[in-house]
Amino acid sequence: MKRQDRSDVTWHYHRIERSDRERMLGHKGATVWLTGLSGSGKSTIADTASCMLHDSGVLTAVLDGDNIRHGLNRDLGFSPEDRQENIRRIGEVARLLTGIGIVNFVAFISPYRKDRDLARSIQEQDDFIEVYVDAPLEVAEQRDPKGLYAKARAGEIPSFTGISAPYEEPLAPEIHLHTEKQDPEECARQIIEALRERGIVR
Ligand code: ADP
Repeated sequence: MKRQDRSDVTWHYHRIERSDRERMLGHKGATVWLTGLSGSGKSTIADTASCMLHDSGVLTAVLDGDNIRHGLNRDLGFSPEDRQENIRRIGEVARLLTGIGIVNFVAFISPYRKDRDLARSIQEQDDFIEVYVDAPLEVAEQRDPKGLYAKARAGEIPSFTGISAPYEEPLAPEIHLHTEKQDPEECARQIIEALRERGIVR
């Protein structure tokens, strides 16, 4: 996908293209964008689906919100502007990975609809699968795998999604998971089935 956002820089074409890499790998690249509250299950499901695909010979990658904030996005906080830049950068990385033919999972809360839509808009339509990892706030808060809800309730974390910062539900996600009813394996299988239906993996 050629980008034309700037007139002062010329796009350079390279001889090895995405289709060459995909032929070599035997599957297509795609972004599986998991959005949902902290503790809803994004990282667990991304990891489970990635393992299942890896075992069947698919090249995968997981971009995890917390991990990326240790490196590429270590300069960003949790204000709406920083959250927007956080998602913009990760959307660009996801796009690059898709172009290499990698099935990449993005596990980011990504609470704002317009930020997710921006990440979608820079990829081809068939390359972006938005997954709403849905769990009621009470369930996510009870799980509290990192103890963050307890800290947020104690006022130690300002702007915590679901408590003191908004979460905008996806209006038309490709997949809607209900993790209070489905276990991680079932959720991962549903994602992989969608990848098969779209001809991304076999
Ligand atoms: P997130 O990445 O959305 O913050 P995590 O994957 O880190 O969430 O944590 C989710 C927690 O909920 C984990 O402790 C996981 O074992 C648990 N869990 C229970 N049921 C599910 C499910 N169906 N899908 C994913 N995680 C689940």
